[in-house]
Amino acid sequence: MKKISCIALVSIFVFVAQAQDFNTYFKNQSLRINYIHSGTKDVDNIEIAFFQKNNVWAGSMTHLIDPNDYGCHKIEVYDSASNLLLYSRTYSCLFGEYRTTEVGKTKSKDFKETVLCPFPKKTVRIEFYTRKQQLAFEKKKSIFVNPEIIVIAPNNYSFQTIDLAIGGDIHRAYDLVIVPEGYSIEDSAKLIKDMKMCKDAILGCSPFKEHASQINIRTILSYSEESGISQEEKGKYVNTILESGFYSLDLERYLMVDHVWKLHDVCSNVPYDNILIMCNTKKYGGGGIYNWYATVSDNKHINYVCVHELGHSIAGLADEYYSSEVTVQDFYPKGTEPKEPNITSLIDFKSKWQDMLEVGTPIPTPITDENKDKLGVYEGAGYCAKGLYRPYISCTMKDIVYDRFCPVCKKAISEMLELYSK
Ligand SMILES: [Zn+2]
Repeated sequence: MKKISCIALVSIFVFVAQAQDFNTYFKNQSLRINYIHSGTKDVDNIEIAFFQKNNVWAGSMTHLIDPNDYGCHKIEVYDSASNLLLYSRTYSCLFGEYRTTEVGKTKSKDFKETVLCPFPKKTVRIEFYTRKQQLAFEKKKSIFVNPEIIVIAPNNYSFQTIDLAIGGDIHRAYDLVIVPEGYSIEDSAKLIKDMKMCKDAILGCSPFKEHASQINIRTILSYSEESGISQEEKGKYVNTILESGFYSLDLERYLMVDHVWKLHDVCSNVPYDNILIMCNTKKYGGGGIYNWYATVSDNKHINYVCVHELGHSIAGLADEYYSSEVTVQDFYPKGTEPKEPNITSLIDFKSKWQDMLEVGTPIPTPITDENKDKLGVYEGAGYCAKGLYRPYISCTMKDIVYDRFCPVCKKAISEMLELYSK
């Protein structure tokens, strides 16, 4: 047995690309893989549609393998000739949420999705993985991409980029692009003001502010035909560049973009690791999906919504609240440990914040005034009043309160920002 595990360890070591390999296998550009993701609770189809290219790769050139086990999906990129694992990234998507809804049990729906990887110099094999209900990833699709012969569709947009805050080199920093949505050309002054408001909300909040030298924030001057956002009132249509709207997954406040191909096309001229969409509406709403995108609107809670939704999209954090209009079913099935770092079912608490707890902390921890700033294990989290636990009585991932991430959420965000800057 011992011999077998030694061989296994050696194999993993041999087949994972080393930090110095970036220039051997990749150009400093991004390959955008556009596909249609469709299906139901039990069916998950990925059909490749077309490829595009961004002129820069914003991610790390030395840490290409994702060390996290977050999200519902993953891509892996292998050198075709040697089978060396060159790149991986975990993520979630709107389709993954759709299939947990009542209608998604049986009715298939198409989502236009995009993933990025560094642009290969040689033929690569790209594998797509999915997991259901917090279980292990399963391989769903495998494609070969030969950079000599693939057809690259042109980018339709090339918007002017504006630097809002530059902390470091793009390969050693977290690059966030804030994309304006629903701003017509008449809104140009408001667009700049709103983008700066988002930037200030992010950099004024702990732990982002302590990592300002590892964060770059840019925006683009992308205007919409009309001002406003679709479905502000049910049935109202506004002609906007990203075709966003409220009532995603039939939730009034869930403000999302179905057409992710277009979103990435709009961003194609700017280096980015993550996307935040700033929507020109006073209506309260937003959304954030891990390594996918986040949205925010221009309402009185904008500072809070900005950092709450980024918590989802940068660090894969879960909602710590448990009374809401969320319609997802079995999001965290009984008997499983959620993948998100800031909630636990106690099935594998060791992998969560157990080592951060003060010795003698009762589990569950009573919700009392004395415990209001104490790390504990408080029952009620992840849309469930029972059986799921959160680290703090009140955190920015639970309540509408700005700049109050609990120590567990702060640690998760900080670790992710460190990862981007390695
Ligand atoms: Zn928290």
